[in-house]
Order: sequence, then structure tokens, then C-alpha cells
Amino acid sequence: MPELPEVEVTRRGVEPHLSGKLVTDVIMRRAGLRWPFPTNLPALLAGRRILTTGRRGKYLLLQFEHGTLLIHLGMSGHLRVLDKNLPPAKHDHIDIVVGEFALRMTDPRRFGAVLWHDAADGDLEEHLLIRQLGVEPLEAGFNPELLYKLTRNRSAPIKQVLLAGDIVVGVGNIYASESLFRAGINPKTQAGRISLKRYTLLEAAIRATLAAAIEAGGSTLKDFMGVDGQSGYFQQSYFVYDRTGEPCRVCGEAVRQIKQGQRSSFYCAKCQK
Ligand SMILES: [Zn+2]
Repeated sequence: MPELPEVEVTRRGVEPHLSGKLVTDVIMRRAGLRWPFPTNLPALLAGRRILTTGRRGKYLLLQFEHGTLLIHLGMSGHLRVLDKNLPPAKHDHIDIVVGEFALRMTDPRRFGAVLWHDAADGDLEEHLLIRQLGVEPLEAGFNPELLYKLTRNRSAPIKQVLLAGDIVVGVGNIYASESLFRAGINPKTQAGRISLKRYTLLEAAIRATLAAAIEAGGSTLKDFMGVDGQSGYFQQSYFVYDRTGEPCRVCGEAVRQIKQGQRSSFYCAKCQK
């Protein structure tokens, strides 16, 4: 499943091909994915210029003067910029045509989404799907004091509070496990009992973990142009994620796996207290 780093790497990859460009057409090959595509999308976007690209959580944003196109990759989606005349494959569901090229969305499992937010409907931050999101983990608004303050009355384990996404967005299962390892915090620790000092370590760990993933992805997925460009999700080496029973890279203790709210957590009982 694409997480925040994959979406950010995708955004950086497609940005030079889209920013400032005029949309000439939108080709929809089915009625929608997780939700219906806006039926008037071709009329809405043809002849309009993409001002810039952005990202909010796992939503990739194409900013227009009259609104924002939100693209979510769901469970299995990916985007590439291709020659618009390249015949679509089975799971290529929508093309945003920009001159000779197309931003093509492929999504075999069809949990992705393409939605329109009209500028007339107000600020994007007020959008139903956006307003519930916490702060961006790579931006200045994310800091230890915020983590500390917003967790004082949370008795849930820190791992689940991170995954909930209402305090900080985009720290998914992989990056929550990895960040907690880097910060030396046991995933079962009650969020409300963690000190400001330890949240300072966690904030730095979350930033470092996501930044490393984006960097790794950037070097794996250099080419968003053309059919030969890789479009899968990048592999990284993890401290604890998916390493059950293997030795901790720091102390050698076997990595443990537990279930927290239906999700697997991985940790080292010796390094994480
Ligand atoms: Zn260890």
C-alpha cells in the first residue's frame, strides 16, 4: 500500500511534467474507482492550467485556479507520465492529458480515488476528507509540544495514536513501527504517559524515518516518464518492520511482533521501553 513517502516521491516525480501545464483532455475509462469520478471532469479541466502540485496526507493535489483535483492511490494505485498515445493497459483507468503526455492512473484493486474540490466550496482544508487529517509530519506545525499536548488524555497505545492520523497524518504502519524503534519507545506505551522529552525523540525519529524513505524512493523511482520507468513501490531495509524473530540491528535481541488494533507492530523489547 502506498504510504506518505511513496505519494511524496510520486508528487516530486510528476511535478516537473505537470506544473504550469495546460490540461487538454481527461479520459475516463470507467465510471470511478472507490467513488465515482466527477462526470464533468473533462469539461472542468480541459483548457485549464495546473498551477502547481501538492500533497496533503496521502492525497496528491493538482492545484488549479478554480479548484483542486485530489488523487488518492488507494491500496494499489500508481501514477506515471506517458506518451498520451500509448495504448492503455487493463488497469489504466484515467488519463489527465497534458499536451503530448498523459498523467495515467493505474489501479488494479480500484480503491483509489479522483475527486474535485471546487474553489467556490471554500478552503481545501474544510473538505470532508481533509479536515479530519492531523498536521503534516514534515512541516513546521509538527513538533514535540503538539504531540505532548494532544496526547495528554489519550490512554491508547502510542502506536495506535500515531496510526489514527488525527494528530499527525501519514505515519502508517511501517513508519510508526520504525519511528518508535528509532525513538526507543515501546509501541504499547500509553500515549498520555509519554514525557515531552521522549516526544522530542519521537518527533525527530518520525521526520528522519520519513525523510529516509523519501530519499530511498527518490533514488529508486527516478523515472516517472515513459513506459520503462519503474512504477512499483520501493523496498527499504527496516530496523524492525516485518523482521519478526530476526536479530535487532542494535542489540541482537529477537524482534517481536504483536497485534494492536488488527495491525501488526514490530519492536525490540530491549531497545524500546
Ligand atoms: Zn534491540
